[in-house]
Amino acid sequence: AEPLLAVQDLRVEFRTRDGVATVLNGVSYEVAAGETLAVLGESGSGKSVTAQTVMGILDTPPGVVTGGSVRFRGEELLTASPRRRREVRGAGMAMIFQDALSALNPVFTVGFQIEEQLRVRRGMSRRDARARAVELLDQVRIPNPRGRVRQYPHEFSGGMRQRAMIAMSLALDPELLIADEPTTALDVTVQAQIMDLLAEIQRERGMGLVLITHDLGVVAQVADRIAVMYAGRVVEQADARSLYRTPAHPYTGALLDSLPRLDQKGTALNTIKGLPPSLLAIPDGCPFHPRCPRAQDRCRAEVPARHEPAPGRASACHFAEEVLAGG
Ligand code: SF4
Ligand code: MG
Repeated sequence: AEPLLAVQDLRVEFRTRDGVATVLNGVSYEVAAGETLAVLGESGSGKSVTAQTVMGILDTPPGVVTGGSVRFRGEELLTASPRRRREVRGAGMAMIFQDALSALNPVFTVGFQIEEQLRVRRGMSRRDARARAVELLDQVRIPNPRGRVRQYPHEFSGGMRQRAMIAMSLALDPELLIADEPTTALDVTVQAQIMDLLAEIQRERGMGLVLITHDLGVVAQVADRIAVMYAGRVVEQADARSLYRTPAHPYTGALLDSLPRLDQKGTALNTIKGLPPSLLAIPDGCPFHPRCPRAQDRCRAEVPARHEPAPGRASACHFAEEVLAGG
C-alpha cells in the first residue's frame, strides 16, 4: 500500500553569502497511516528543514529544493501548485512547533484562531465553529474550555499554549501531524504530559505522527519507528524496539550511550565527542568519520551507501553488519 507520506532522496541547499550549504543530502523516510515515526538528530542535522519542505513552508530563498520527491497519499507535492499546497496544509497535514507563541497570533483569542480556519476552510457558521473550538480545547485537556476559548495566547501558561497550538493544528482533522521539538521548551513534567497527549490523540484519531526531536529518551515510549539523521541524511532507520536493542549505525550507538539510564543514577553520561560538521564543509567519505570510534581509511574516502544489513533495517555505515552484530 502507498504510505501516507513518502519522502524520497530529498535534496535542499541553502545559498548563503559564505557559500552553498548542503542541508539535505538525499533524505528518505516514509510514514504509514496511523504510525508514529520519530525523526532524531542533533540541531543542524536537517530534521526541521525536511519537515518544512514536506509542509511547503521552507523559506525560499535561501532554501532551494534541488532534487527528490515528497508524496502525500501518492500525490507529488514538490511540483503541486501553491493553491494545492495550501489545500493540503492544515487539512491533509498540519505542523506544530517548539514555540507556540510564534504559531499563535497574539492579537486574536485562541478561540478565534481555531474558528477562523473552520469558517474559511469548512464554511462553518460562527456558532458551529465556536462549539467545535470548545470541543477541540477539551480534547487537548484544557480545563474550562468555554472560558479559555475567549482568552489570548499570553493568558495561557507554556504547557497550555502548547495544547492550544495542538488544538489549532487538529481543527481541520489532518491525517498527518508533524511535531517539531514540541516539548523542548517545557519543563520535564509538562514535557511528559504533552508527549502523552500527542500519543493519545494519535491513537484516537489513527493519525500519522512525525515526532522531530534531538532527545532519544523523549520518544522511547511513543515511536513505532525511528529515523536517525546526521548531516542532512538519514543514517539509520528501524522499528523503535530493534533500534534500541541493537543499533546498526555507530552514531545511533553513541546516542544510546549518552542516554541517562534508570539503573545508573548519578553516573556521568557518555556524550558524543566533537561537533556535527558544518554544512558548508561536509567531510569526505562518511560525514560521521571525524567523530566515529570505528572509523577506518575506507570511511574517510568512500561515502557509505544506505543498505539493509538485516531485513527491515537500514543503515548508512560501511560496517553496519558488524555494528548490528555488536562488534
Ligand atoms: Fe563510522 Fe565508518 Fe560507519 Fe561512518 S562508515 S559510521 S565512519 S564506521
Ligand atoms: Mg530544528
